[in-house]
Amino acid sequence: MARTVITNIDYLVTVDPGRRIIRDGALVIQGDRITAVGKTAEIKVQASDDIIEGRGKLALPGVFDTHVHNAQQLGRSCGDEAWSGPERLFRRLWVVEAHMDKGDALCAARLAQVEMIRAGTTCFADPGSYFAAETAQAAKESGMRGMIARTVFDMGTTVMGNLPKGFFEPTEDALARADEMVAEFDGSLDGRLKAWFSMRVPVACSDDLLRRLCKLAEKRGVGIIGHACENRDEVIASHLKYGMGDIARLEKLGLLAPNLLLLHMGWIDPKELHMLQKRDVKISLAPSASMHQAMGNISHGKAPEMLELGLALSLGSDSAMSSNYLDAIRQAFLIVGGLHEARLDPKVLRPEVAVEMLTIGGARCMLWDKDLGSLEVGKKADITLLDTMRPEWQPVHNPIANLIYCAHGGCADTVIVDGKVLMRGGKVLTLNEHDLYEEAADRAKSLIKRAGLEDTVASIWPMH
Ligand SMILES: [Zn+2]
Repeated sequence: MARTVITNIDYLVTVDPGRRIIRDGALVIQGDRITAVGKTAEIKVQASDDIIEGRGKLALPGVFDTHVHNAQQLGRSCGDEAWSGPERLFRRLWVVEAHMDKGDALCAARLAQVEMIRAGTTCFADPGSYFAAETAQAAKESGMRGMIARTVFDMGTTVMGNLPKGFFEPTEDALARADEMVAEFDGSLDGRLKAWFSMRVPVACSDDLLRRLCKLAEKRGVGIIGHACENRDEVIASHLKYGMGDIARLEKLGLLAPNLLLLHMGWIDPKELHMLQKRDVKISLAPSASMHQAMGNISHGKAPEMLELGLALSLGSDSAMSSNYLDAIRQAFLIVGGLHEARLDPKVLRPEVAVEMLTIGGARCMLWDKDLGSLEVGKKADITLLDTMRPEWQPVHNPIANLIYCAHGGCADTVIVDGKVLMRGGKVLTLNEHDLYEEAADRAKSLIKRAGLEDTVASIWPMH
C-alpha cells in the first residue's frame, strides 16, 4: 500500500499520554492510519513514498471545531448587534435558515468547510439544521470528518418568542425524520461522518420530545448535541416555563449522560456542576460567539472549575452569524486570554490545556478519542501542519506558547483527514474555491433579501 511520509517536522506535537513534542520528527501514514511516529532519522523512506516536507512546520493532531452551523454560512453578519439572545435567534438566525433552499444549504456547507480546512480544522460537530443531508454531501466532497444532526423543534411558541413559520414540526414527525437521518448517515463516508440527534435549544423542545430523543439515541448508539445555558435570557425563560434551569431539567428528563455534548454552557448554576461530573457530560465552549454577542460566557462561565472536575472540554466557532468566523485556533486564544482577563489570573488556563481542547478534548467530546485526538501509531491519520516560517511565529522558544498566543488558523499549510490530503502547501485540493465564492455571493444576496434582513446587514457608512 502506498505510504505518505511527513519528514523533518520541526515540532511534532503528539498530544500522546506523555505529551511528547518531537524535534525533527516524522510520521508515516498507510491507508487511513498512522503507522509510525518518531525522529526523521529513525524512519526509512521508500522510493514509492509520497513525501511531505515538514521543515518549518509544526504538526498537530487534526484540529476539532465542536460547534459549527454549516447552514448559517451565507448569513454572515446577520446576527450582528442583535439586542438580545431571543432577538438574534428568533428574528435573525432562524429567519435566515427558514428562507433557505437545498441549493443554498449545500453552498453554505461547502463554504463553511473550506473556511475550516483553511483554518487547519479536520473535524466539525454541527448542532443541527433542516439540511443535514446537504452538510453530509459537502463533507463527502471536501473530505472533512464531522458529525451532523437534524433539528427537532416541536414548539412554535416559547417564552422567548415565536418560531418562524415552517421551522417546527409535530413531535412524531420531528422524531421520525431525525431517526431516519441518523440511520442513513451515521458511519457513512467510510466512517468519516457521524450522525447524532440534536436538542438544538431546550426551550423550543417539549419534555416528551426530549425524553423520546434520549431513548432513540440509546437505541441507535449515538450521541445528542445541543445548546444549553447559552445566555441570561434563556436561563430566565427556562425558569419561567419549567421552574428550573436547563441542566436540572435535562437531569430530570434523563438526558445527562456521557453521550451528551452541550454547547456554550456559560450560565450554568455552580450548584449544577456536580451533575455534569456525575454523568460525564461533554462541553464545547464558544468564546468568540460569546464576546461578539455579549453573552457573558467567559466572564460568567465556569470553564476552570469544569476542568478541575475532569470534564471533557473543547472549543467551537459557532457560526458565521454568531462568531462570525470558523477558526478553532483563534478560539483557543480567546478562551485563554478571556479567562486571564475575567479571573485576573494569568495562570488560570495554560496554553497546553487549550491545545488539549483543540485535539484530544475535541475527540473525547465527539466520542472519537479511541481513533483520534493524538498522533500515535494505530490512530487515524488526521493531521494539521502549521507553517512556522511566518513573522508571528518567530522566534520559537516555546512552540505551544506561540501556537496559542501568536498564531491563528490562517497559518495552516497542510491538512490531512483519514490519510487523504485536503490542503497541501496552502492549496485546497478538494473544492473549487473561486467558483464557490461566486456562487455564495449570488445566493447570499438573494437569501438575505428573501429573509428581509437587507437593512440589518447594510453598512452604516455610505457606499458609492
Ligand atoms: Zn450554536
